[in-house]
Amino acid sequence: MDLDVPVIDSHAHIWGEGFVPPAFFAKAAKEWAAKATDRRADMIMPKLLNGIVDPDGDDFIANMDRAGVDASMVMMIDVGAPVFGEDAKTPPEAQIEFYAALQKRHPKRLHCHVAVDFRRPDHLDLIRRGVVHGGLKGIGEITPDGFSAADDAIRPVMMLANDLGVPVQIHTRTGVWTDFAGTDFSERNPVHPVHIARLAKALPELKIILCHAGFPHWWHRAAELIADLPNCVLDISNWNEVFHHDEAEMIARLAAWRGLVGAERILFASDQASGPRFTGERSKLPDWVSFIRALPENATQWGYCFSEAEAKAILGENAARIYGFSQGE
Ligand SMILES: [Zn+2]
Repeated sequence: MDLDVPVIDSHAHIWGEGFVPPAFFAKAAKEWAAKATDRRADMIMPKLLNGIVDPDGDDFIANMDRAGVDASMVMMIDVGAPVFGEDAKTPPEAQIEFYAALQKRHPKRLHCHVAVDFRRPDHLDLIRRGVVHGGLKGIGEITPDGFSAADDAIRPVMMLANDLGVPVQIHTRTGVWTDFAGTDFSERNPVHPVHIARLAKALPELKIILCHAGFPHWWHRAAELIADLPNCVLDISNWNEVFHHDEAEMIARLAAWRGLVGAERILFASDQASGPRFTGERSKLPDWVSFIRALPENATQWGYCFSEAEAKAILGENAARIYGFSQGE
C-alpha cells in the first residue's frame, strides 16, 4: 500500500563547515585509535569533522528524496565552550544565519531550528533573532548535559519559546553527544523524561517534543509521564537504529505509545545526520519510512491494528499540526 501523505522527518541534523569543535569528537577519535596500534586520534579527526558537513543542504535533500521524505525538521546543536570547553570555528551567530539561509534555499523542504547554550550571556537575544528575523521554526535540539530541562537556569529559554509560540525539541536518549548509551538510567540522569514532565506542568502552553522518545530504556516511562500532559509529543527518532532487529517489538511499542498518548502525539523522526559519512548508501532512512508507511499491514501481521489515518498522522500530519503549517507548507 502506498499512503498518499506528506512525510515529515521531525528530527534531523545538518552541519556547515566548522560547526563542531574537535573536542566534540575527542571520545570517538580515541576509541577509534584504540582499535589498532598504528592509529592515532589525530588521523581520524579530520574525517570525523569533515564527514558531517553539507555546506548547502543539497546532498541532504537528495538523501530525503531517496527515502521519500517531503520535509525535515533540522536541529542546531551548540556544542561549543560551555559544554566542550572549546568553541567551534563558526560562532553561533553565523550558524543561525546558515540555518536561515538553508531554509530559504530549500523552501518547504527544510525547517530549521535554533539552539544556543543558556550559559552564553547573549543566548536569549540570539535565539529570539533566529526565530523572529531568521524565520526559524523552533528551539532545539536542547541536550541537557549538566542541567535539566526543568532547571531555573534554562527557564528563560522555555518562556521565550512559550511567548514566541514555537516548539522546543529536547533530547531524551540515555546517552548524550557521542556517548550514545549513557550509564545512568535513573531519574538522576538530566535527560530523563521525568524532568520534561516537570517543565510541561510548569508551562502547560509550551509545545514540547521529547526527542528519541526515551530511547532505549525509558520508552514506556516517556509516554507514561506525558500521558496527561497534552503539550508534549514523542518523536520516534533513533528507534530506526533497532527496529529491523525485531519489527514485532517495534510494532508493540508503537501500540503501547498510542495507548498512552494517542497516535496524534507520535511523530515520525530519524535523527538523520548530514555529510558523506551518513547520507546516500549509508543512510537507512528509506527503510524507516517504508516501515512506518506500511504500518497498517505490518501491524496486522502481529495481531495489532493501525488504521491508515493513524499512519498518516504519525508520518507527517501531526508534525504539520504542531508546527502550525498550513496545507502545502
Ligand atoms: Zn538528540
